[in-house]
Amino acid sequence: MEIKPVGRFAPTPSGRMHLGNVFAALIAWLSVRSRDGEMVLRMEDLDTQRTSGEFAQQLREDLRWLGLDYDRETPPQSQRSAVYDGYFDRLQDMGLLYPCYCTRSQLHSVNAPHLSDGTYVYPGTCRKLTPEQRAAMNRAPAWRVMVPDRQWRFTDRVQGEYRLNLKKECGDMVVRRADGVYVYQLAVTVDDGEAGVTEVVRGMDLLSSAPRQMYLQELFGFPHPEYGHVPMLLAPDGRRLSKRDRDLDLGQLQKWVSPEAVIGTLAFSAGLIDRREPISAKELAKEFRWSKLTGDAIYLDAAIFRE
Ligand code: GLU
Repeated sequence: MEIKPVGRFAPTPSGRMHLGNVFAALIAWLSVRSRDGEMVLRMEDLDTQRTSGEFAQQLREDLRWLGLDYDRETPPQSQRSAVYDGYFDRLQDMGLLYPCYCTRSQLHSVNAPHLSDGTYVYPGTCRKLTPEQRAAMNRAPAWRVMVPDRQWRFTDRVQGEYRLNLKKECGDMVVRRADGVYVYQLAVTVDDGEAGVTEVVRGMDLLSSAPRQMYLQELFGFPHPEYGHVPMLLAPDGRRLSKRDRDLDLGQLQKWVSPEAVIGTLAFSAGLIDRREPISAKELAKEFRWSKLTGDAIYLDAAIFRE
């Protein structure tokens, strides 16, 4: 018997939803609802400077407008640091953590190793500090978890086979910043694990986060969820749609079109339906198959909503 899927929306409440967020949320919802599964909502507000309760409330209303319902909302990340402390202590007990005193400029200096795509690999500088050297540092450290020299591999539902060696392509990972704030990778792993999430659907830009989270899942004893990293939505000039594209955020779109028109346009662009026509999320769920979804970037021009 197939276990009941549990999916999630994990938005960052730092502005209105734009079409890229809507697309990831739609696919996450379709995947779960087409198999009678459960949907969880979680606000990712670790960055308290950029996020707010008003944006969180707006997000809930936007999801309702779109017809993307959920069964429960788990506490926002900003309220969970005591929970994350417990997982941090477990890593400490496993002997996997060490303090890192590197400054931002040291980390990004030209001498630091970079991969061809510009990603930075932490060379383990602070791993070798002696207790005396650590004691002599008079500033608060970030904390890193040591990563093994091992190839992580999984089959993404959209992107196919993906591999990453954390040691060679990422380096020891920060799990808590010097100001005490836990990082995304740790918070997401704990939250998804505790909520019993069986599938993670999000934008393609987070694909390389999956192996980082798989490593932490293994350390904490959480099963690995399935992953589906959906294509990015691009403006006609190839730029990624972002919060700056105000004409494609829901605040604007709601003035022009119905939720069914938004969903129909996204579904058609993604290969889920054959004609561009308004359709509700519920209707779409009846026909949803992962195999129909394109893996290629999706180009969208705001003008199509004003035709
Ligand atoms: N909070 C992230 C975002 O809004 C998504 C993280 C995730 O789905 O794991 O882009």
